[in-house]
Amino acid sequence: MTLYLKNARYLDSETLAFTNTDLAVDEGPKGGIKLIDKTPPLAERKPGDRVIDCRGKLVTRSFGCGHHHIYSALSRGMPPSPVTPTNFVEVLEQVWWRLDKCLDNDMTEASALIAAMGCAKRGVTFIIDHHAAPYSIRGSLETIAQAFERVGVGHLLCYEISDRDGQKITDDGLAEHDEYLGSGRHGLVGLHASFTVSDDTLKKSVDLAVKHKTGLHIHVAEAESDQQDCLKKHNMRVAQRLDKFGVLAQPHTILGHCVHLDEAEKKLVAESKAWVAQSCESNQNNNVGLTGYKWTPRVMLGVDGMHNDMIRSAQAAYMAGQHTEGISPSELYSRFRAVHKYLAAMDVPGDSANNLVIMDYPSPTPCGTDNFPGHFAFGFSSNDVETVIAQGKVIVENRRLVSEDEDSIIAYAQEQAGRLWAAMAK
Ligand SMILES: [Zn+2]
Repeated sequence: MTLYLKNARYLDSETLAFTNTDLAVDEGPKGGIKLIDKTPPLAERKPGDRVIDCRGKLVTRSFGCGHHHIYSALSRGMPPSPVTPTNFVEVLEQVWWRLDKCLDNDMTEASALIAAMGCAKRGVTFIIDHHAAPYSIRGSLETIAQAFERVGVGHLLCYEISDRDGQKITDDGLAEHDEYLGSGRHGLVGLHASFTVSDDTLKKSVDLAVKHKTGLHIHVAEAESDQQDCLKKHNMRVAQRLDKFGVLAQPHTILGHCVHLDEAEKKLVAESKAWVAQSCESNQNNNVGLTGYKWTPRVMLGVDGMHNDMIRSAQAAYMAGQHTEGISPSELYSRFRAVHKYLAAMDVPGDSANNLVIMDYPSPTPCGTDNFPGHFAFGFSSNDVETVIAQGKVIVENRRLVSEDEDSIIAYAQEQAGRLWAAMAK
């Protein structure tokens, strides 16, 4: 089946060239697009082919998220924790670890559906997720994968293994990855953070990543306390510990945050194969500090469970970057698009050229190749995303999800949020 987009103003997301053209979009996890002079007439089209008129609309590649936590999707508006956290570790203990301990498989499914829908409607068609549900680990990655696939978004999943809840739960985390990756699914091996994993768990996790030829996905020096813990317990800094165990040498490894690295650690990470995922709104929310990322050539953007809007995340990175690193609109746009390079190097299905957004962006000023990054940094909004094509299929049309029933997903999320909040109150 071919989807034809006629009368498009097409923006090539790499060259920033604008072309007035029709497009033929192939279906499938590794499908492509072709710019064509004219959409074939009805008599020449195949059964099932579809045409969308994009007159006046901007068509460009859809977006990817480099670091998400769908497990937090049902937290919006939840009752406050009994003890008000005063630092990052207390935020984890009082908010997120209280929540994730109560998640069961239905709550995980609802979280995945509502986050995937939220992403899809904002033009985000690929999610790299880092899951946590310590008392419902087994089968959770397959549950998330299937929920994402119902909505139509691509994924690269992992579970954040840690020792915080005892050996059985650590073992469950390891076994879940072995089973999920062994089933042929693409994914990473997740770890929560240096301060919650022993040397033994770190070694076993790297061994698992080597076995399945993939990378690790771990929070790194998100708060200064991660460094203090590492110095105290291991007499070295976090990046050095990860390097010692082979985390940085493993291709496709993602290091979340890296807010508190010293110069030697920055050099170590920059010279390794590891990617860094920046989520500065989350850093602001947790009051852990902000940093710049120009020290590494491999940085992409995430949302860290805060919301599902990658344009918002990019614009927040631009504003924070004025203070930390003096980032330009053009540098910001490259960082926003870096996730595609990461995924292409890994040969993961679901992020090919046939993932597109149709945006209603009636620019009030001239918009072309030279000044597009300025429009992106200041003018773009996920509210402009009208129609979303994922793997060649329309999944959002006129701002409504069409791959699944939007109202049913919201009702299911509401029901599961009620169960989750009640469990947390016990
Ligand atoms: Zn995170």
